[in-house]
Amino acid sequence: MDTVTSRSKTTTTQRKTTATMCQHQPPCPTAESADREAAHPVAHFPEQGWSLLCNGVLLFEDTGELLPDGKIIDPHRPLDTRHIATAA
Ligand SMILES: [Zn+2]
Repeated sequence: MDTVTSRSKTTTTQRKTTATMCQHQPPCPTAESADREAAHPVAHFPEQGWSLLCNGVLLFEDTGELLPDGKIIDPHRPLDTRHIATAA
């Protein structure tokens, strides 16, 4: 028996046009979008306090963000609601 290896396999070309890993339909907001946090988390590291969104944004527990281009967004959502200014 001679094994005829007919390689008619179509090579799966992974198109990496952008830095985004988003494969959702409809596509999630891009890292440039103001709505970027609405993207789906693809990796979550609770012990380190951050998660990676499918648009390449690193979202930190304190709502700070690190964009794929290295831009840092300051935390913008106060999580600590105990800070109630009681000016009595
Ligand atoms: Zn997505």
